[in-house]
This record gives sequence, C-alpha cells and structure tokens, in this order.
Amino acid sequence: MKILVINSGSSSLKYQLFDMEKEQVLAKGLCDRIGIQNSFLKYRNNGKEFIKEVELKDHNDAIREVINALTDSEHGVIKSMDEITSVGHRVVHGGEKFYKSAIIDDEVLSTIEECIELAPLHNGPNMIGIKACKKLMPNVPMVAVFDTAFHQTMPKKAFLYALPYSMYEEQGVRRYGFHGTSHKYVAERAAVMLNRPLEELRIVTCHLGNGSSICAVKYGKSVDTSMGYTPLAGVPMGTRSGSIDPAIIISLIEHDKYDSEMLNELLNKKSGVLGISGISSDFRDLDEAADNGNERAELALEIFAYQVKKYIGAYAAAMSGIDALVFTAGIGENNSSLRKRVVTDLEFLGIEIDEEKNRQRGSEMDISKEHAKVRTLVIPTNEELAIARETLKLIGNR
Ligand code: ADP
Repeated sequence: MKILVINSGSSSLKYQLFDMEKEQVLAKGLCDRIGIQNSFLKYRNNGKEFIKEVELKDHNDAIREVINALTDSEHGVIKSMDEITSVGHRVVHGGEKFYKSAIIDDEVLSTIEECIELAPLHNGPNMIGIKACKKLMPNVPMVAVFDTAFHQTMPKKAFLYALPYSMYEEQGVRRYGFHGTSHKYVAERAAVMLNRPLEELRIVTCHLGNGSSICAVKYGKSVDTSMGYTPLAGVPMGTRSGSIDPAIIISLIEHDKYDSEMLNELLNKKSGVLGISGISSDFRDLDEAADNGNERAELALEIFAYQVKKYIGAYAAAMSGIDALVFTAGIGENNSSLRKRVVTDLEFLGIEIDEEKNRQRGSEMDISKEHAKVRTLVIPTNEELAIARETLKLIGNR
C-alpha cells in the first residue's frame, strides 16, 4: 500500500511517497521554479539525495518528473507507477463545503474550484496539481485533505465577524482558520502521549512557523482558531502582520494612497517580526541579534511571544480550562527560548515548564514540571503523514 502525497503551490510542488504498512517515507522531493527558468527537481530516494536540473514548463511536467524519479531504473523506489495505490492532495481552502477530507470526483473538483475565489493564491495551484496528477494517473483514486476542514466545528460565535450578516451569507466572509491538518494531528498525538482520550481533553495547540496559528481543541474538536478569513489574521508572523486595527488600512488608503497591491505587499510581506525588527523573518536570526543586544530584534520576539501568550489565555477561557498546551512547527519544535518566553508567568493557569527538559532536543517531549497541572508538550507536526493517513482511511485497500 503506497500513497503519494502532493502539496502543489504556484511554482513549486512538494511530494512524499509513503509505504503505509510501516508508515515509512520511501521518497520525498520538491519541484521548484515551475514555469520559470532554471527549474529543477530535488529529491531523496531511500535516503540518497539527488538534484536534476530539468525544464518544468508546467505542473504536468513536474508530476511526470516526480514519477520518473520514483520509478528510475537505477535508484527508484518503485518499479512502476501502478504501485501507487492512491494520491492525497493538500488543498488549502475547503470553504464551508468540506468539513472533512473527500475522495476527488467531478463534483468535489468543481466545489474546490468554487473555493478558488476564497484563496486564489493557494487553491488555484492546488487545483492545477490535482488536474496534472489526474491526467497522468487517471485510474488512481485521489483524496483532497483541506487545511480548513478541522475548523468547521467552530460555533458561529467564534467564526462570525461583526460585519453585516449579509456579507457572511452572500460572500462567505467569516473565520475559516488554517493549519487544520497540523492542529488535528498534534492534538491526536497529545492524547496518545498523555494516554488519555482526546474527547476528555482541552488542548491549546500552537503551530508556530513562518505562518503561525493557535487553536482551541475542546474534546477533539476545533472550537476557535487565530487565523481568519485568510491566513493573515491572528498573531504576528515572519512577514505577516497578524490582526491589526482595520482602520489603519482606511488611513493608508486615504492619506498614503495605498492600493490593494501595496496593502497586500505591506501586510503579507513586509510586516510581522521582519517589519518590527527590520532584520529578518527568521527567528534564528532574531535570537542571534537579540543576544547581541539588538533592541528591535528583542522587541519583535517579545511582541510575538506576548501575542501567543494572550491567545493561550483567551482559549483557556473559551474552553473553561486547559489540560494541555502543545508547541509545534519550525519555531514551536525548535526554539526553546521562544517557548520559554511564551509560558513565563502562566503558572496561574497551571502551565509550568521544566527549563532543563525545555532545552533538550528530541521528537515528542513533555517539557512540563513534574507537578504541573497542565502538560506542556512539544510535538513535531507531520502534515504529510496526516494526509497519507486520511487518504488511506477514505480509499482503504481498494
Ligand atoms: P513554514 O511555515 O514555512 O513551514 P517552518 O515551520 O519551517 O515554516 O518555520 C520556520 C521558522 O522556524 C523560522 O523562523 C526558523 O527560525 C524556525 N526553525 C526552523 N527550523 C529550525 C531549527 N532547526 N532550529 C531553530 N529554529 C528553526
């Protein structure tokens, strides 16, 4: 049982091939600069790395090269494409239509197409990836796994904005939330680690990477999350502003003659910890600069940690308590000093970490003090494996 997982972006396509008997990654890779000059495929088969410079005019070329790499006569991991039993596709936006993963048929395809309007930068390329795959593997069943689906359990009080109700009814303006596959995966792992049923736990999951979001997972269901109508909302991120007073935008339009392109650039690319520090969007650079006395780098880290901390408090209130706090993604998994900043002075909630345990590096770790009421966990996310599992669940062994 071999499942190919595809994450298709506008000019890149990432993939992993899983052997689901042992949930083992047989191969993984990245097609980059699709449709641009100097395109290439970088991949790893059975632990060995390769780079192939090859013209990738479009996503069809990319998928063809992926299959060539997987089936290569010398270093391939499968003999033929027929060994791939199913394909799981990451799709960013499932709107309100998809509250769980779906087997891709014509109806599902056209519904995903309808959601392009909600996430043009993501769903468009996701769709192109699906179509390219279907063209080359017409008889292989495929599944779409949505970033938004896990959050479809949020109640109206959490997902509605205080805007005219017609904007929700007519344009679908509401909080959708993202990183759902990751929040669900780490919440499930937390329950396994704590040896308790997920249905009994109130967990705050913090997915902190270039894009960051926090989620309140009550008894296994997402009841609130920090990203909103788009992935721009919530905490400040590498280059994204997170939530700001919307009147700032009116002021920029009126006084500084900003248009939508300039606003997009400002809020998505030039803000966040990069905007504050003026140095970098990467937390490793900020840590180093702050250690060397750079005040704005220190400020950026403080602001980020403060906003994450506020969400933890808010979501503990939303769930009438908290049993576990989870850190995941690039920063959550690797940056112990940031974790410490976030949880400092949260003892009143029962959150207390052991500094020694926090400094350790490992895979899944419980970094709480022995007696702490709330368990603080570090859990590496694995969205690809989660997508492969979903695909297996839906397609089964057929
Ligand atoms: P994305 O949202 O693009 O998937 P990541 O989850 O990789 O982003 O997160 C990127 C952030 O994680 C960067 O700010 C970086 O500093 C941090 N990070 C990633 N890997 C490490 C590491 N091994 N050690 C310390 N920080 C890391």
